[in-house]
Amino acid sequence: MNDAVQVALVTGASRGIGRALAVGLARAGYDLALCDLASQPEALAETARQVQAEGRSARTYDVDVSSKADTQRLVERVLADAGRIDVLVNNAGILKLSSLEDLDEATWDAHQDVNTRGVLFMCQAVLPHMRGRKAGRIVNIASLAGRQGVPGQGHYAVSKAGVITLTRVLAQEVGSDGITVNAVCPGIILTEMGRNNLGSEEAVKHWENATALHRLGDPEDVVGPVVFFASPQSAFVTGQALNVCGGLYFH
Ligand code: NAP
Repeated sequence: MNDAVQVALVTGASRGIGRALAVGLARAGYDLALCDLASQPEALAETARQVQAEGRSARTYDVDVSSKADTQRLVERVLADAGRIDVLVNNAGILKLSSLEDLDEATWDAHQDVNTRGVLFMCQAVLPHMRGRKAGRIVNIASLAGRQGVPGQGHYAVSKAGVITLTRVLAQEVGSDGITVNAVCPGIILTEMGRNNLGSEEAVKHWENATALHRLGDPEDVVGPVVFFASPQSAFVTGQALNVCGGLYFH
């Protein structure tokens, strides 16, 4: 990788929003460190090819963000390879639907482990490097569910509310070293997760009509806000959570 080029690390980069963010960041001029669970080598390699097609370099790594040891090893490897991490995008996440009444312990734990602790562990892993350089951008992919709470997604909503709160607190803890921490809260984005969540064409129509823009999101709709939070244009913005939902929710 070229030393002058900034490096963005994206978790959950093998598909969906993560892949779109990786390609969008490449288009914005970043080299990419792409990571995902070890089960997705081909999909992650495809994201890397799409980044390279934008003229930027991409390296791929395995990580389970719910393992602190894994996240520490990942960041050590990226720093050894690329020499710097300018932007961390915490995108990896899971959603399995269940009412709170029927929710089992393992599903509750998995959502907090991946969606919330995973963000914490990744931030803890990159912060010594970012503090050392007195610069850095962290962008957390939360969810509208974390603001509003959605039936069938209580455990997920709690995990994402945790991400929003973590974003606000961390921003205040690390701002004096020139590091910003912001969150993006997507509404309904038509990825595998978004489609599974809706279940039927009637549900798609219902939610399309519920948005001000009368459509659901594509993964590319999340790119602009993330690139903004990663860029110098957002230098005076930190601890914020931005809804990216086509006008589905207004708080
Ligand atoms: P997706 O298509 O399911 O992709 C999620 C990615 O995260 C997958 O590549 C997945 O790997 C990876 N991942 C899961 N657990 C991981 C772990 N422990 N360590 C590392 N990577 C892991 O989901 P998406 O729709 O693109 O969502 C991306 C982010 O946006 C998530 O944080 C999600 O909560 C959030 N979001 C999505 C929507 C929506 O409507 N789609 C709305 C609001 C927020 P595998 O492929 O191996 O499972």
